[in-house]
Amino acid sequence: MRTIVPIKQVPDMSQVKFKADKRIVDRSSANAEINPFDLYALEAAVQIKEKLGGTITAISMGPGRAETALRDALARGADRAVLLEDRTLAGADTLATSYTLASAIKKLGEFDLIICGEKTVDGDTGQVGPELAEHLGIPHVAYVSRLAEVGERLVAVCDMEAELYTVESGLPVLITVTKDANTPRLPTFRDKVNARKARVEIWSAEELSTVADPDRFGVRGSPTRVHKVMIPIEEGRKGKVFRNTVDKATDEIADAIVNLLGGKSNIGDE
Ligand SMILES: Cc1cc2nc3c(=O)[nH]c(=O)nc-3n(C[C@H](O)[C@H](O)[C@H](O)COP(=O)(O)OP(=O)(O)OC[C@H]3O[C@@H](n4cnc5c(N)ncnc54)[C@H](O)[C@@H]3O)c2cc1C
Repeated sequence: MRTIVPIKQVPDMSQVKFKADKRIVDRSSANAEINPFDLYALEAAVQIKEKLGGTITAISMGPGRAETALRDALARGADRAVLLEDRTLAGADTLATSYTLASAIKKLGEFDLIICGEKTVDGDTGQVGPELAEHLGIPHVAYVSRLAEVGERLVAVCDMEAELYTVESGLPVLITVTKDANTPRLPTFRDKVNARKARVEIWSAEELSTVADPDRFGVRGSPTRVHKVMIPIEEGRKGKVFRNTVDKATDEIADAIVNLLGGKSNIGDE
């Protein structure tokens, strides 16, 4: 099984400060760590490798210091680590982030499975995994809390809060895993020492230009504009399952989103 695990280095959210005036996270205000949700993705990949053999490639887009997160991934069982580091990749929103990661995955070559965390503890959108699958033209299964079967096909149990449901897919496929998927193991001292000596490949934007449009990287490729930064009231995930035909369910989902926005929407205005 050729598995790819995208991992993000995030600030320790118990320490981090925000620059509200500049509408950004002050990443220098806190220690950096591997996104905690990505540990479950890595552990899922390691368990699959133990059962079926194969390779695990960890990939991250971020500044040079993100190499530490990739070394952590190597210590936890990844075989190869690639860091996408370039000033032109900075300032990316989720669309540009997923596009850049998808470009790098195309450059890596054939794969069977991509495993992402369900979300990050800093951006917290949960968008990058599904967007990545769209860019690559493969199916995705989000919020997987149990992998029932992986081999010729994948059978996964998804936690949609309101209900659990079982999804079957062929390969290649992308999944995002929740913290119920497994218990990440701790790397041994020897694993950590070996990972410190291992090679982390650094790829620049230039190296992706054969498979990607550089105008879609970084700030230039990011349509999102941040208007305000605030700490929201924690509500937790909510879920609703729409069981109609696809056409009817799509209308119901659009109505539900408009209601969530307080009745204001420009959906269908064009
Ligand atoms: C306008 C704008 C500008 C921004 N500028 C910056 C900036 O300059 N620097 C910055 O660090 N952030 C910046 N961000 C935040 C950045 O867009 C997000 O952190 C990033 O796109 C990931 O989104 P998320 O954290 O919500 O990931 P989620 O979608 O919640 O993550 C889900 C999963 O996707 C994978 N993943 C997510 N991000 C990465 C990554 N970078 N590498 C590998 N795997 C990943 C992981 O498996 C993760 O568990 C900016 C955001 C906006 C809107």
